Amino acid sequence: MYLKELEINGFKSFAKKSNLSFTTAISGIVGPNGSGKSNVAEAFRFVLGEQSLKNMRGKKGEDLIFTGAAGRENRGAVKVVFDNKDRKLNIDYSEVIIERVVSRDGTNEYMINGSKVRAKDITELLSGANIGASGHHIISQGEADKILSINPKDRKNVIEEALGLKVFTIKKYEAERKLKRTNEHLAEVRIEQKTTAPRIKYLKREVEKMEKARLMKDELRDLYKMYFPKKRTHVEQNEQKQKEIQLLQQQIDAIGQQVAGLQTELSSVTEASGVEQKTQDLVVVEKQLQEVKTKKASLEREIGKADARIEIALENKQRYEVYLNSQNDGEVIEKISAVLHDIWIRWAKKILSSEQISQERKDRWEKQFVSYGQLTEDQKEEDRVLAREVEKAISGTEQVSAPTFDPEQLVALETERNRLNEEIKQLSTKEAELENKRDELDDIRDSSETVGQKVQIEILTLEKKKSELLGSLNTAKLQGQQISQTLHAFDTQEAAARALFGEETNTFFVANDSNNSDLNVLEKIMRLRVLLENGGVSTSTDVMEEYKKLTEHKEFIDTEIADLEKTAESLLALIADLSEQIDVRFRKGLETINKEFATFFSTLFSGGKGEVFLVDIPLKRESEDDPQEYELGVDISVALPNKKVRGLSMLSGGERSLTSIALLFAMSAVTPPPFIILDETDAALDEANSKRYGDMIELLAKESQLILITHNRETMSRAGILYGVTMGGDGASRLLSVSLEEAESVAK
Ligand code: ATP
Repeated sequence: MYLKELEINGFKSFAKKSNLSFTTAISGIVGPNGSGKSNVAEAFRFVLGEQSLKNMRGKKGEDLIFTGAAGRENRGAVKVVFDNKDRKLNIDYSEVIIERVVSRDGTNEYMINGSKVRAKDITELLSGANIGASGHHIISQGEADKILSINPKDRKNVIEEALGLKVFTIKKYEAERKLKRTNEHLAEVRIEQKTTAPRIKYLKREVEKMEKARLMKDELRDLYKMYFPKKRTHVEQNEQKQKEIQLLQQQIDAIGQQVAGLQTELSSVTEASGVEQKTQDLVVVEKQLQEVKTKKASLEREIGKADARIEIALENKQRYEVYLNSQNDGEVIEKISAVLHDIWIRWAKKILSSEQISQERKDRWEKQFVSYGQLTEDQKEEDRVLAREVEKAISGTEQVSAPTFDPEQLVALETERNRLNEEIKQLSTKEAELENKRDELDDIRDSSETVGQKVQIEILTLEKKKSELLGSLNTAKLQGQQISQTLHAFDTQEAAARALFGEETNTFFVANDSNNSDLNVLEKIMRLRVLLENGGVSTSTDVMEEYKKLTEHKEFIDTEIADLEKTAESLLALIADLSEQIDVRFRKGLETINKEFATFFSTLFSGGKGEVFLVDIPLKRESEDDPQEYELGVDISVALPNKKVRGLSMLSGGERSLTSIALLFAMSAVTPPPFIILDETDAALDEANSKRYGDMIELLAKESQLILITHNRETMSRAGILYGVTMGGDGASRLLSVSLEEAESVAK
């Protein structure tokens, strides 16, 4: 691979298309100050993908496009052509043309062999051939000693690049970037995993609850299928019961009407017979009868008294007659006895006529009522004793005198008695009349009462039947209520079932073959419903969907995490591998560079010693407690011949240049880049050193193409081709191939 050509068009001071062909190992670019030589070096940087405008001495893209007296270009373009027969550039072309164009709006276009590419593609392609926009193979004006002034870490990077490790560092950087991105992504996904976990957990629980609820619903469905078909029986029972109630009510109503009719009949019977009047009349008659009886009794008592007085009068009359007729006591006594006996019999008969004495007693006495003459001697003697006592009493208490007797009094008494008898007779007639009347009234009343009683009995019978029917009605109503309650329970359950099962509920009523005799169906239904209602189960299908979606997403996340972890792992392994490779190659390369450096150094300084070595650079710590960590850097030590100078800072400008050149050349010698551009690296060298510099250039040119921008004659003399750059009054640089002599004069 070698550099064939550079074409600059509208870039910086090159207004028009200018071509440089690099046909020899060493090309020189010469020209007066400000003619545009360094712009050529920058054209290289530009086309090789430099992104830092500062490194091209610009502030904005527009600064890179020609603006001058000759006009104003709209685009700055640079093209570089490589021979790639050896395929050092990893692209299947024998010639590779890389082109970059900048427009006034600051946009850039990149092309490889005419195809648009990204800047990155160019960087990658070039890094494979150990070249790039920056690096030690392009040394800008005044930057020859930059390798000395930069810090050990940056120096290590430059050396790394020079050793061709950039391809590894880019890979490592890429891997680290990827790892960083992977870790960031991993962290994001883990956060997502963590954030969604509680939701998934919650949803899982919900879904489990839903599943449980679904099972309960299935069970409930089966129970409903057992329960609802029974409704028909209860509906029929209810209809029957209602009919029964209606019938009973009709019967009761009919009886009620019958009773009402009978009651009307009863009252009409009572009214028609005048029972009440008759009853009142009867009371009056009874009262009159009672009065007649009382008066009659009192008259009978009067007659009794009159009879007694008449008896006494008759006794007196007898006694008087006995007194008059009897001559001795015996006879007297005998007569008195007989009289007493008669009196006793009359008295007894009187008494016996009383109704208060029983017939048996009357009969018994009747036998004793015999006349005095029929008495036994003992009985006569009892009477005689009594007669004597009477006689004695009469004769003992008063002087035996002739008994008194008033016949008129007797007549008066008998008249009175007859009158009383007459009155009693009348009263008896009245009594008989009243009794007749009473009996008559009684009969009338009794007969009307009989009709009423019959009706009343009928009423009572009916009432009894009615009350029996009412009892049945109450029972029927009670049963009806129970059936209604059962039906109401069916309705309640149906409403609940519809809420849960919707239209499907209709199918629950279809009678099935299951001969279920489970009495606790309703109880089980209610228990399940309570469980379902209290379960707080979401019926939303969203939960299910969200759970499904989130679970899928979780699986996706888990897989992603696993993938990312795997990626991170392999990236870590790659980084470790690359680090290892870089480290091994670097240490080895640095060792070689160190040897070359020592050689170049002692050649350039005619002795002394230059050395590059690894140093540990302590890293900044967050706090003093943190362990001290180090990174590697490269330091330089120099020992000039015949001088005690050791520190870089103590070197002269020329000495600094020589040291830098020695190191840059050492680096280039170890891993030769395809080309090296040196912009006035030799500016500070004296003649002797310029010669040594020239020798070393030729040495380097064996491995790399050299493009040298120089004012140094010695350097010019080493070039195979020389380009002269001039700038005219229009501010545009021009290029021309010149001879050494011309070059010398141009350079001046
Ligand atoms: P020296 O020998 O002093 O280092 P040189 O030959 O390297 O000089 P350069 O630095 O390459 O010169 O060129 C600088 C010149 O390029 C300046 O005159 C500057 O005006 C000119 N220049 C830079 N950018 C542009 C641009 N965009 N348009 C026109 N001219 C430009």
